[in-house]
Amino acid sequence: MTVAPHFQFKNGTLHAENLSLTQLAETYDTPLYVYSRQALRDAWEAYRVATEGRNVLVCYGMKANSNLAVLNEFKNLGTGFDIVSGGELARVLAIGADPAKVVFSGVGKQVWEMQAALEAGVKCFNVESEAELTRLAQVAQDMGKIALVSLRVNPDVDAQTHPYISTGLKENKFGIAIEKAVEVYQHAASLPSLNIVGVDCHIGSQITEVSPYLDALDKLIALIQTLASHGIHLKHLDLGGGIGIRYTDEQPLTPSDLLNKVFEMLAQHQLDHLQIVLEPGRSLVGNAGVLLTQVEYLKHSEAKNFAIVDAAMNDLIRPTLYDAWHSVEAVKPRTQGDTLYDIVGPICESGDWLARDRKLTLQQGDLLAIMSAGAYAFTMASQYNTRPRAAEVMVDGDTAHLVRPREPLESLYASESILG
Ligand SMILES: *Cc1c(COP(=O)(O)O)cnc(C)c1O
Repeated sequence: MTVAPHFQFKNGTLHAENLSLTQLAETYDTPLYVYSRQALRDAWEAYRVATEGRNVLVCYGMKANSNLAVLNEFKNLGTGFDIVSGGELARVLAIGADPAKVVFSGVGKQVWEMQAALEAGVKCFNVESEAELTRLAQVAQDMGKIALVSLRVNPDVDAQTHPYISTGLKENKFGIAIEKAVEVYQHAASLPSLNIVGVDCHIGSQITEVSPYLDALDKLIALIQTLASHGIHLKHLDLGGGIGIRYTDEQPLTPSDLLNKVFEMLAQHQLDHLQIVLEPGRSLVGNAGVLLTQVEYLKHSEAKNFAIVDAAMNDLIRPTLYDAWHSVEAVKPRTQGDTLYDIVGPICESGDWLARDRKLTLQQGDLLAIMSAGAYAFTMASQYNTRPRAAEVMVDGDTAHLVRPREPLESLYASESILG
């Protein structure tokens, strides 16, 4: 058993759905991101069941994986999208998604990004500061448009996750302090080019318990009631993303765990007329992908055994950035004796590691699958060391689709110029 249900061993070889990873490596070379279409559908199914018969809009937090094939799959399943840049807006427009189901998050929206989102007609801007509110009002006024606004408040709750992916604490750069929110809403209400539609929070990522969400919801409910007493009535409440996945032995909350509690609390406060918006990223794609890599060299030093592979921190930065754990599976495991290996890449940085102290039996040329690489893997990839970004393949049953080819080397510098 691996952590990902759609990547399992058959006849001693790790498969993505019905295709062996050995065969995929032969066809497409390594490093290679391999996604499972069925895994995307099954991850969505958990949300579909949880939202059935309820007024919920799921906006896929697309920064987790923004390949058009992934976006299109979710569009067809009925999701909206949570975008954080003008570039992500361009992607959702490229697949013909409905802008009325797009929410625009992010602390640093630029004028051109606001203009593009107003032009497209997004569901709302999740506004993160007073300065942003002022800018948005001006941009909308100049365009003769009304901007739909939700304030992202910072509820000051501890999501009990890694500091880099915890976003709902006072000291984080995100959102408007909840104590200041009423004042900022009143200011927003006074600006004719803005129309207040909701409230939003996003407290962090890879959250495994329901309680931090309920702590946040508690504070948002109090805010919504105060706003109502000031004549400001909201249409939706957006609880952000953050539901975790299993990287090793986590037992994360499910969408049903969350929504059952949320609707219970809303009913207690006569707030069930509100639409609930969720912005899940990782939980829809994280275990739908692996990063396939080949062992280039084995290196045994006095202190450590290294497996030097052809994938690197430029392909998967999570281990070195967050100290994140990704399971590593040999695609064709060997039986005799285990050795502890650090799995490292070829980049000239000591931080270039993918996994540490893993018990494996390896030979040069072996294939390894870095598991749970469907989220925050390709989207955080760079071309550091002039390494082309790896190809992406989506497996659908017995068929593999190349959804992004490996970048040709020349493309990495084709637009650069030298001085005459
Ligand atoms: C990153 C992000 C998400 C998605 O988070 P996950 O942990 O991947 O579910 C949702 N909303 C906002 C505002 C984000 O920044």
